[in-house]
Amino acid sequence: MAELLKGAAVARAITENLRGESDALRARGVTPCLATVRVGEKDADLAYERGALKRCEQAGIAVQRVMLPEDVSQETLLRELSALGANPGVHGILLLRPLSDRFDDAAVCAAVSPKKDADGVTATSMAAVYSGAHEGFAPCTAEACLALLEHYNIPIDGKRALVIGRSFVIGKPVSMLLLRKNATVSIAHTHTTGLAALCREADILVVATGCAGLIGAEHVRPGQTVIDVGIHTLPDGTLTGDVRFAEAEPVVDAITPVPGGVGAVTTAILCRHTIEAAKKSAR
Ligand code: NAD
Repeated sequence: MAELLKGAAVARAITENLRGESDALRARGVTPCLATVRVGEKDADLAYERGALKRCEQAGIAVQRVMLPEDVSQETLLRELSALGANPGVHGILLLRPLSDRFDDAAVCAAVSPKKDADGVTATSMAAVYSGAHEGFAPCTAEACLALLEHYNIPIDGKRALVIGRSFVIGKPVSMLLLRKNATVSIAHTHTTGLAALCREADILVVATGCAGLIGAEHVRPGQTVIDVGIHTLPDGTLTGDVRFAEAEPVVDAITPVPGGVGAVTTAILCRHTIEAAKKSAR
């Protein structure tokens, strides 16, 4: 039976630590504040916003919610983002994405202040993930994968890691973060051949494909740690991941559950970034 890498314990540890930091900031007259920016009323955005609000409350972070109508113009959205960038009372900005296709995603992301880029969407943040510079922030979900591994003392240095998925939000940044910790990293994607054999070679398997149940018994072996980033809602309303948990769990050494794994840690990382930004602004 595998060790269950539950996200709640990781999120709790991070949040408790942040509570102390936010109290210290308040004592210096700085109230750490995250601004959430939502366009429309998509269920996924509302759910993530709710999770972020709850976690911010636990971490002692104020939240300013910007809610824009579904038909808001790109010009108005850009204006709102640049106003938040100029507002000294706001330290972190979370833009709920993906936006609808009528927006120029790159232009909108570029309007987020790099100093307040709590979810790592700007070019500055992305470059820093690759260069290791102390600018901007890594995307929260990618950093959450590393936080899970570190919390449960899973060795990374010198280990073989396979990341399945090459998106800018998860696959690419998580690969760079693992590389920074001295893992030997491979990246698999839709054109990869022989995926099952590649997976079995890895000590750490990070699965972020958006394909429910893609990874099963044929992809895993004893000794592995599996981080399942996928989240899917089945027709009966239950949540599931990219990994067939019932097949992988009896075989591997450690695995994240879905729900209750990576997703639970993501909002704690968002809070960590907001506190870091507030500390930098208070220097
Ligand atoms: P994406 O669609 O942008 O990228 C998916 C990647 O997986 C692509 O690079 C693609 O090449 C690769 N891929 C797809 N099918 C594959 C296959 N059959 N074999 C090998 N590679 C394949 O998705 P994303 O934004 O990176 O998100 C991935 C998953 O993570 C989704 O299920 C999403 O819902 C979930 N997610 C979870 C959280 C969280 O907090 N847990 C946050 C964001 C996204």
